[in-house]
Amino acid sequence: MSFPYAPLPPLAGLEPARLDWQPDAAGGEAPHSPAFDDVYFSRHDGRAETEHVFIQGNGLPQRLAAWPAGRPFVIGETGFGTGLNMLCAWACFETHAPAQARLHLVSTEKYPLHRDDLARALAAWPDLAERAEALLAQWPEPVTGVHRLWLSPRVTLDLHLGDAAERLALLDGQVDAWFLDGFAPAKNPEMWQQALFDAMAARSRPGATFATFTCAGAVKRGLAAAGFAWRKAPGFGRKREMLVGEIASPPPDARRQATPWFTPPAVQPPRHVAVIGAGIAGASVAAALARRGIAVTLIDRFDRASLGTTHLQGALYVKLAADTNLQSRTYLAGLLHSRRWLAQLDPQQALWQPSGVLQLALDDKEQARQARFLANHPLPESVVRGLDAETASAVAGVDVGAPALDYPCAAWVKPMELCVRLAATPGVCFRQAEVAALEPGASGWTLALADGERLAADQVVIAAAVEAARFAQSEALPLQPVRGQISQLRVPEGAPRLGRVVCAGGYVPPAADGVLNFGATFGPKETDMAEREADHAANLAELERGLPALVAGLRAAGADLSPQRLTGRVGVRAASPDKSPYCGPVPDAAAWRHDYGVLAKDASRVPEIAGRHHAGLWISAAHGSRGMASAPLCAELLASRICDEPLPLEWPLVDHLHPGRRIIRDLIRGH
Ligand code: SAM
Repeated sequence: MSFPYAPLPPLAGLEPARLDWQPDAAGGEAPHSPAFDDVYFSRHDGRAETEHVFIQGNGLPQRLAAWPAGRPFVIGETGFGTGLNMLCAWACFETHAPAQARLHLVSTEKYPLHRDDLARALAAWPDLAERAEALLAQWPEPVTGVHRLWLSPRVTLDLHLGDAAERLALLDGQVDAWFLDGFAPAKNPEMWQQALFDAMAARSRPGATFATFTCAGAVKRGLAAAGFAWRKAPGFGRKREMLVGEIASPPPDARRQATPWFTPPAVQPPRHVAVIGAGIAGASVAAALARRGIAVTLIDRFDRASLGTTHLQGALYVKLAADTNLQSRTYLAGLLHSRRWLAQLDPQQALWQPSGVLQLALDDKEQARQARFLANHPLPESVVRGLDAETASAVAGVDVGAPALDYPCAAWVKPMELCVRLAATPGVCFRQAEVAALEPGASGWTLALADGERLAADQVVIAAAVEAARFAQSEALPLQPVRGQISQLRVPEGAPRLGRVVCAGGYVPPAADGVLNFGATFGPKETDMAEREADHAANLAELERGLPALVAGLRAAGADLSPQRLTGRVGVRAASPDKSPYCGPVPDAAAWRHDYGVLAKDASRVPEIAGRHHAGLWISAAHGSRGMASAPLCAELLASRICDEPLPLEWPLVDHLHPGRRIIRDLIRGH
């Protein structure tokens, strides 16, 4: 795209914090940072300090007691550390907030603790043990970016890993109360900069409060310059004073000057949403909305048992570009998100297996590409690593004869069973029907069903793969069908067993229920659902090219590998022209062409007009063959947007997924 985007800081693995442990006043131990020569929390009574400074300093007990249902109360923090502040905020919420209220925690951390250190630090508070366990179970990989954790049905935590000022500037969301923490300004002057206070101001709701333990002059001046009013309050323990305050009028959002078309529509959390399409995109949106207390009607042409997806086994994996781009970053965020989401949804692993994925480098070109990728992406080995042929073969369980990229955190999934499980989320009502048209009304939408029935909903999410562009409101979004056939083979006794999903041209996961699923063919613009023998032959040839040792082993064990003996499944996926999903509000294409038509003559003349959208109409589509990585994250993104919550992705990536991006690109290119 040729119009400007905010530059994203590099995608990278983060140095975990190095700690030492010092005796505390109660005869236990407390974490200390040798790098900053400062403590994570007071050695006298860390818990009481948190309660005094951050919880009482922001008036949380009273504010939470009065918090209504609807959008969640949002707390923002600089310096997550051991999470003590956030766990205390969660406990305060559960004590005081009404049953329908929700809490959303947003915290930044540049030096995330190692999980073992986190467990050791939080062991000091036995009454927080259950909450600490929820945090530890989902503790993310140390990779820059946003990591969403579901602490309880009513409490969400977004960890924004990276520098606080940088991360808050990338946050798409607004905060009600700030915990301004971090090592003391004298010990960590890099953090307490004007850019941090400005970013806090820009991400504040009108009237947002803050509290901090410090009274340093630079902090007072910085907060005031950003627009916060501050006053001194009695400090904790031996500290005489601390600061509290609020911001009455946060500054206007400057992000949209270059891209006004992406200005999000004003939202009103709905009571009832219709979701069209019950494949992984729609079913995950339905579950995400239902979790937020919204009644969902999930509609699909197919019955509940087969739902929208046809494949029995799908890989949760991504193919990242050698040189970082927005698409790659979105997919990596999606991979890490899906992995946590699956573990949370199905801890017994009945619907998925954490097998990891190997991406073979079968020729020199791919080897060079993988080497460039590794050089450009200093990521933890638990996320992606390069393996030589010997090690790759050892983890694959069969000789792969080539070096590979290994994604230990990738997985394989049973997509149909997963969709059935999601559709059974309490609050989701499944309905077999075909939606013929969408009609906007004064207070919502009417869905005209093919059988003549009409269905009302406050808002609508279109998640119907290639069918997503069939409606008058969405027809301007280009979607291409891509037919894919997979082949299936019952694995005989004694055949080699795969330890990883292996990808080369196609992919092959470890056998599920004794059956190997491999493929898939790639047929752009094809929609024919009939199984083809020629496609089985193509899948076999691809399998033999990528994994000759596996094929030889299957033959030796007596498998009949003739194409006419194979069975298979055919699916039609949808792809956008730039191969990234569409996720967001549905643009009013005619209005965009009218409002932004001047870009065709001069791309630098950006009209100051916010993008017009079909009110209450949303889309999650064009997930192609990587839907397991992109759809669950897009579902959270949409549900968060619809419910006026902070988003689980940096805003330039949210813009990257905007369904209207192609309209602007075409205008600029004069199409
Ligand atoms: N709130 C924490 C708790 O409840 O345990 C304690 C915070 S500890 C005093 C300070 C934290 O700020 C550390 O975890 C440190 O790594 C983090 N930090 C320091 N500089 C930072 C920066 N520039 N951006 C984000 N986090 C930073």
